[in-house]
Amino acid sequence: MIHLDKPNDAPPVLLRRGATVTLKNCEAYVRNRAAYDSGKLKFDVHTNIYGSSQVRKALKKFQHNKCCYCESRHLATSASRIDHFRPHGAVRQGKGSRRLYPGYYWLAYDWDNLVISCEKCNRMKSDYFPLEKPSKRVRNHLDSLDRESPLLLNPYTEADLSKHLAFEGSACEPRTERGRVSVTVLGLNRLELQEERQCRLNELATLCVIARESSLSCALRGQAKHQIASFVQPNARYSAMVRDYLASGKCSSGP
Ligand SMILES: [Zn+2]
Repeated sequence: MIHLDKPNDAPPVLLRRGATVTLKNCEAYVRNRAAYDSGKLKFDVHTNIYGSSQVRKALKKFQHNKCCYCESRHLATSASRIDHFRPHGAVRQGKGSRRLYPGYYWLAYDWDNLVISCEKCNRMKSDYFPLEKPSKRVRNHLDSLDRESPLLLNPYTEADLSKHLAFEGSACEPRTERGRVSVTVLGLNRLELQEERQCRLNELATLCVIARESSLSCALRGQAKHQIASFVQPNARYSAMVRDYLASGKCSSGP
């Protein structure tokens, strides 16, 4: 996971249609609070608004075509999901916890609450949104989100993710409780993901050998160094892991 930035200006579809639906939903909630709180009444889900091509295209750009959580770079060729950082339909603290209704319905079309993730991270995350103190959970639009301390790491708001997550080889090692919860909830050490990361490390190790092999031509070694440098760029897959690998000194010819 790496830090990401997006402009404050939301795509027009969220500001117009999204804002209109949100206002209606907030009014409906106030009229029928008990029914929404019990889960008997649910809000309509307008995937054509938050999942519109405008939103999808913008998020892909700001995330360098990568999943915001696992840094897999499959978004151009396989299924991706517009993920609500705070789930909009219902919410759970963790496995075995009661599902609470409604979710963060007023954030369903909120630009700050939208990210794009791979299908697997999205499925693992489901409607989990653990908080440091679950009793402080905000249950409706009338309350302020400031009272919540989320445990899940948000790449768009977390300035220094390396405080929470580090890599030992292809394994993601949490450094804090928030890191631990994020690894568990998102499945950041799932087998297929670790295998993909290991492939990247193997490519990197080969480039490191080429870069420091004095019997090879300067041009070839220079090319390898250039490629190593490109592996830590934000658009490169698993760049946080590569950064930790290079920082560990395992590739003395790294940037
Ligand atoms: Zn992912």
